Amino acid sequence: MGRSEELFEQACRLLPGGVNSPVRAYRAVGMAPRFITRADGAYLWDEDGRRYIDYVCSWGPMILGHNHPVIREAVERAVKDGLSFGAPTRREVEIARLITEMVPHVEMVRMVNSGTEAVMSAVRLARGATGRDKIIKFEGCYHGHSDCLLVNAGSSALADDGRPSSAGVPQDIVRHTLTARFNDLASVEALIDAWPGQIACVIVEPVAANMGVVGPAPGFLQGLRDLCDRSGALLIFDEVITGFRLAPGGAQQYFGVRADLVTFGKIIGGGMPVGAYCGSRALMEQVAPCGPVYQAGTLSGNPVAMAAGLAQLGYLRDHPDLYDRLAETGRQLADGLRAAAKEAGTAVTINQIGSLLAPFFTPDAVTTFTDAKGSDLGRYARYFRGMLERGIALAPAQFEAMFVSAAHGQMEIGATLAAAREVLRAL
Ligand SMILES: *Cc1c(COP(=O)(O)O)cnc(C)c1O
Repeated sequence: MGRSEELFEQACRLLPGGVNSPVRAYRAVGMAPRFITRADGAYLWDEDGRRYIDYVCSWGPMILGHNHPVIREAVERAVKDGLSFGAPTRREVEIARLITEMVPHVEMVRMVNSGTEAVMSAVRLARGATGRDKIIKFEGCYHGHSDCLLVNAGSSALADDGRPSSAGVPQDIVRHTLTARFNDLASVEALIDAWPGQIACVIVEPVAANMGVVGPAPGFLQGLRDLCDRSGALLIFDEVITGFRLAPGGAQQYFGVRADLVTFGKIIGGGMPVGAYCGSRALMEQVAPCGPVYQAGTLSGNPVAMAAGLAQLGYLRDHPDLYDRLAETGRQLADGLRAAAKEAGTAVTINQIGSLLAPFFTPDAVTTFTDAKGSDLGRYARYFRGMLERGIALAPAQFEAMFVSAAHGQMEIGATLAAAREVLRAL
């Protein structure tokens, strides 16, 4: 038994499932999770001293690679001056200015501590600003764990009979959450027509990256924009994954579609717990203490977290060429994996957009959540374990994205593809 297994046994007695966030428990791949001691660049080291090429990248934040000196040094400098003041600081002004400069259509910013908090607050703002209660989300999109977003679709697309997807969430709360199908504009239009004048917002991951990776069909995001304009609903892009990843300005810039509110997390904190929701001045001034929509946070805008976020976002703004390189790395991996699968005679569909990718063990194209669910999960688990044995750490579940960072170079791609050829052949 390795040290990770030993620690996991202890952890399971002290933490539910041995972890502080469920997917880390490796349940979908049927083994004990690796306990990590440190990370640098594209690499992780576990408690047994084994090294892995990391494609989880802390679920997205580490777009520059782990332990990047620019971020580390910014954090070290900030720590010397104290950890938290509960009062405004210069860095909060600087990061808000940076975000408004980088992200299209954003005039004001509220910093929070997680993606969940950002989305929960943006939905509250959308409801407060429109005076409407109902919201539309998409099947297979994840928006954190606030009550109103933990919903499974109901029996009929037009009914408000969705069920909570977690115990402890009242049916009364999720009856205001309607579920449409990703890449299916007609399903959204039907809901908007069924609830005229009642939809506060449509919330979407512009690239769905919590069902593997599924991009928007041509015209889908613009179609949402048009439907929102017609019905007076606000369009929320949940850019907790896509923000600062697809482009410096996120999905709005990448796809050329305007959102009314945008939520950020992950990359925005450079590895520290940070989220943000942003939009026009008119909307954001509805938030307390300016307006009637209440939202607060003891540690929001924390000086050390802001230092990390500022350093990472500033670096991304100053190195826009990095996005072409990330996309090229993503393409090389996707092409290499397709070739390896073909050579092995294994049916794999690879979806890739920029530095996000996901392999699905199905011969069919994956453009909807239903398609994604058609992937052979047993095969994914075997693929994951085979890769881990060969020192490649992938997302420990099919319905998660594979993240490429700026630290993933030719050597890492070569090693990853060599391992994939072996593993896919043995599946
Ligand atoms: C991760 C994620 C969230 C939740 O963010 P947390 O920081 O984990 O609370 C929300 N939306 C999307 C799209 C995410 O990927």
